[in-house]
Amino acid sequence: MAIKVGINGYGTIGKRVADAVAMQKDMKLVGVTAHSYSFNTEAAKQKGYKIFAVSDESENELKANGIKPDGNFQNLLDEVDVIVDAAPRKIGKENIGAFYKPNKIKAIVQGGEKHETTGVSFVAQCNYDKAVNKDFVRVVSCNTTGLCRTLDAVNKKYGITSVHATMIRRGADPWDIYHGPINAIVPVLEMPSHHGPDVQSVLHDVEIFTTALSVPSTLMHLHSVIADIKKKPNVDDVIEMFRSTTRVRVVRNAEHLRSTAEIMEFARDMGRLRGDMPEICVWQEAVGLTSNAHNKLLYMQAVHQESDVIPENIDCIRAMMGFKDGLKSIKMTNETFGIK
Ligand code: NAD
Repeated sequence: MAIKVGINGYGTIGKRVADAVAMQKDMKLVGVTAHSYSFNTEAAKQKGYKIFAVSDESENELKANGIKPDGNFQNLLDEVDVIVDAAPRKIGKENIGAFYKPNKIKAIVQGGEKHETTGVSFVAQCNYDKAVNKDFVRVVSCNTTGLCRTLDAVNKKYGITSVHATMIRRGADPWDIYHGPINAIVPVLEMPSHHGPDVQSVLHDVEIFTTALSVPSTLMHLHSVIADIKKKPNVDDVIEMFRSTTRVRVVRNAEHLRSTAEIMEFARDMGRLRGDMPEICVWQEAVGLTSNAHNKLLYMQAVHQESDVIPENIDCIRAMMGFKDGLKSIKMTNETFGIK
């Protein structure tokens, strides 16, 4: 029987997870919530998704704009096995206590919530088993997902002693007119930035220190990573390792994929839904090794913040519903996204 899924918070992440759920043969999208009326709700209606109002105010706002909700939040909860909560940060945590636990519904929260909210933080290729049969799991943030995918591969093959990574973060998502910066480079004045400890919520034994800054761009984050490793590889082996790592794509100067802008254009040209690039893109020419006695591996990667966590949400749903074969789940999900 298909897993019945509801989405709460139909924004950047929620609308993508909704489409991804609708593409899975073993899942049924029961519906999505609306907190307020917007083009997102209008698009959900056009796609034929059922829309559930999260409050009386939401219901009135929807009706005033010509959308008759298919029910309220409780009606959605009555019909689902699992909720993917992609509302703004802190709401997922509140909803676990107020709605999901009392209704005995499993729930996934997103990277805006803290690890302690669920006790399990998830990146499919790193720790799928940890989410099997769990009631509440957190899919980690876009940056943490990106770091975990490549660092897990490096750690398994070469053994990591320690990592220093700098995250150059996009100032806002492309639709977002409220955030910035527009004309500044803004360092995160916190050492380490929260990303390092967050990676350790998935890769417990990796010592990592992160720094971060925001720049005036909406197209992807860029990570500059330096990993001290136990074995000395050659660059070609490292590139081959990234090439054979699921949900990682090696991009090359020869393809003219030299920037986040060109990667995003490539995703659009490939006909990806919304022009998304859920794979972490590692630049072939930016993989390097120090030539001195220390084994330092350096690489740069681009992370499409709006989409890299979407396959993780799908695998997490399967794991929580008791599907034990993580590799099979990743394969099934990848096929629906057209990724390796
Ligand atoms: P968003 O602002 O794009 O979307 C949030 C949606 O929730 C909006 O449609 C809003 O109307 C709705 N909403 C607001 N209050 C609500 C409530 N009380 N109940 C139900 N819905 C409500 O946010 P987002 O970027 O999709 O972020 C959602 C979560 O995903 C956050 O935890 C965030 O940290 C995480 N995340 C975001 C990104 C990203 O780059 N955008 C990447 C990875 C993870």
